[in-house]
Parts: sequence; C-alpha cells; structure tokens
Amino acid sequence: MKISPLKILLVEDNPADADLLQEILEESDDTHCSLVHVERLKDALQVLSEGHFDAILLDLSLPDKQGVSTVAQTHEAAPDLPIVVLTGLNDRVIALEALRQGAQDYLIKGKIDTNLLLRAIHHGIERAQTLKKLRHSEEQLQRLNEELEHRVEEQTDELRQKNHSLQSEIIERQRLEEELRHALAKEKELSALKSNIISVVSHEYRTPLATILSSSELIENYSDKWSQEKKRIHFQRIQGAVHHLTQLVNDVLVLSKAEAGKLDFNPSIVNLVVLCQELIEELQLTVKSKHSISFETQGASCSAYLDEKLLRQLFTNLLWNAIKYSPEENQIQFRLEWMQNQVIVQICDRGMGIPTEDQSQLFDAFYRASNVGTISGTGLGLAIAKKCVDRHDGRIMVESEVGVGTMFTVTLPLSR
Ligand code: ADP
Repeated sequence: MKISPLKILLVEDNPADADLLQEILEESDDTHCSLVHVERLKDALQVLSEGHFDAILLDLSLPDKQGVSTVAQTHEAAPDLPIVVLTGLNDRVIALEALRQGAQDYLIKGKIDTNLLLRAIHHGIERAQTLKKLRHSEEQLQRLNEELEHRVEEQTDELRQKNHSLQSEIIERQRLEEELRHALAKEKELSALKSNIISVVSHEYRTPLATILSSSELIENYSDKWSQEKKRIHFQRIQGAVHHLTQLVNDVLVLSKAEAGKLDFNPSIVNLVVLCQELIEELQLTVKSKHSISFETQGASCSAYLDEKLLRQLFTNLLWNAIKYSPEENQIQFRLEWMQNQVIVQICDRGMGIPTEDQSQLFDAFYRASNVGTISGTGLGLAIAKKCVDRHDGRIMVESEVGVGTMFTVTLPLSR
C-alpha cells in the first residue's frame, strides 16, 4: 500500500548532505516524499510560515544558527511539526539536548539509510500528532477546569447572596418577634394597669364620695341651726373631697397617657428658680401644713429649655410626698443646682423613710411601701414623676432610711 506523499522541509547548509538525503528518500518504495530544501534557519522559518509541512529534517550547524537553540527556535515557529535532528557522529550529547528542546528524533549523518530515515520521520509524525492530541486534551481539560472553577465561583456567590438575604430575613424576623413580644408585654402592662386603676379608683372614690354625701345631707337637714364655723367646716370637707377626686382623675389620666406613650412634651424656656419658688408658695397655701420648706439655690435665675407643666407635676408630687410622709413642723429641703449641661433637684425630708426592699419598685404604678400604715395614697405620684423625668431623658433616684428620712434626686439634661 502506498502511503500519501509527505512534504518534508530539509534545513541543511551542506549541499552534499542534502543531495544524499534526497537520494535516500527517493529510494523508498512505499513513501513518496517531496523535499523542500533551505540552507539557513531564517529561510526555514520563512517557508514554515508560508506553507504546510509534515516534518522537518534539521541540521544543527547552519550558517545563521548553531547548536540546540536552532531546535528551540524551529519548534517555537512550528510547535506541531516533528523535528528530526541531523547530527555528526560525536554529537550525541547535543542530540539528546535537542530532544529535550522539542525534537522528536535524531539521526547521525553518514549512518542514515532509507529505512532509518523514514522510520524516524514516521515516528516523529506519529509522536507529534499524539503530542498535539495530548496538548489539545490538556487545553480542553484546562478549559473545563476553568469553566468548573467559574461555575463554582458563581454558585458560591449565589450561595453567599442567599445566605446573606437569609441572614437579613432572620434578623428582620427576630426584630419583628421582639417588637411583637414588646407589644404583648405592653398590652399586658396596660391591661394590668387598667384593672389596677379600676380597683384603686373604685376604692379611693368611696371615701371622698361618702364625705361629700354625708356633709351635704347634714347641711341640707341641719344647716339652719348651725353656726357659720360649722357650716364652713362641712363646705371645706366637700371641697377637699372634690379636690381629691379631681386629683385622682388627673393622675389616672396622666399615667394612662404616659403608658400609651402619648404624654405631651412641650418644652419652652423656663426660669427654674422662679418656678420652684412658685410651687413652694402654692403648696404651702393649699396644704396648710406646718412643715417648712427651705429652698436652696445657687442664683436668682436659671433658664432651661424644659416642659413646665411636667416639671410642676414632678416637683409637686415629690414635695407633696415629703410633706405627707414626715411629721408636721419638720423641715423639708428643696435644692436646685445647675451646671453647664444638667440641672439637679433634690427634695429631702426627715420623715418615716422607705424600707430598702420597697425601694426598687417605688416607681411602679400603684406601688406603696409596706410602712405607709393609714396614710392615704394611690401609689401613682412617683410613677407619674418617673414618666415626667423620662420624657426629659433624665434620671430619678431615691435614697432613704426608715426612721431617718428620704431624699429624691432628679437630674435633667439641659442640652437635648
Ligand atoms: P402615694 O403617696 O399616693 O402612695 P406615690 O407614688 O407618690 O404614691 O408614692 C409611692 C410610695 O412611695 C408611697 O406610698 C410611699 O410608700 C413611698 N414614698 C414616697 N415618697 C416618700 C417619702 N418622701 N417618704 C416616705 N415614703 C415615701
């Protein structure tokens, strides 16, 4: 069987060697080779770039290039073509190095016959094709690898994004749960407050209503026989009871508003010194107690941007308690002190004091200390005072000792 003709590039500067090789090739019965002969590497690279070849026969000592770098350069120009190196008898080392640089085989000049030459050319072609296929598979593998890496990266990215949105969802759910829990707790608090209000109000309402009823019946039936003084006492009892009822209604309203987060906050410039002095006068007029209230301050005027209505409520409740829970003729100290960024108000009495175990719950609505005895009250005053302080982002503290006295300290920030 005749094998299809092979196109061989012969790079050889020695014309005798070139002719010999031509002749050797022509001797072949079954392989027809067409030989293109050049003498320089430069020309070889030129023809390689212009046409197709099946193999290269390469001499290593050309006029324009010597040694194994000839192989490297040729291999670089035609990486898929088999190169069979032609060397001298003593050049085995160089020939081996040429194989390392990309040559497929080597032949020793003077020892070449047709069989050897064709076998070297055919083997070279086979090996070069196998190598080409191998390179191709490697490239494919590399591409697949890159594609795979890309896909893994994409999926990792997708997963990362999913994870991220899942985390945000979890956080959002936790926030909603927290809000719900908070709303539920608030709801519970409000319903507890409502039932407390009902029980305290109904209880607290009975006494003044009974007073009003009995005093008005007495006036209706017997007032024509009474002295002016006796009439005045009963009218005052009725007025006191009405005042008490009004106060109770007001307290309940303020507290339920505050609990619902609807306590109005209308700050304006207030002269605290004047406000405190007015409050003391008003209290001494309405309470008519024998307590004296000493007012200590560091100057004649302290202007602050606060809510006057809430401050009145706050200080009145604290002063009123100091009066209520300390013996008559005792002195109550009302101190006002201010700094660059805060105001401190202290109300101090030498009264019955508050047991330590009651102090932590004192600001809860309806809470009353265990030692109040028969002193009347609703447990709303301090809860309201606390709401007024909170609305100003301030703080309220109590220090007390049973039998010694009590001091409430209110700190309000000046710049909000
Ligand atoms: P009320 O005075 O109507 O009972 P408050 O809320 O004003 O309610 O006060 C809660 C409780 O704190 C009082 O019942 C009392 O036990 C205690 N308390 C408040 N102020 C004083 C004080 N200055 N001295 C002693 N106990 C006080």
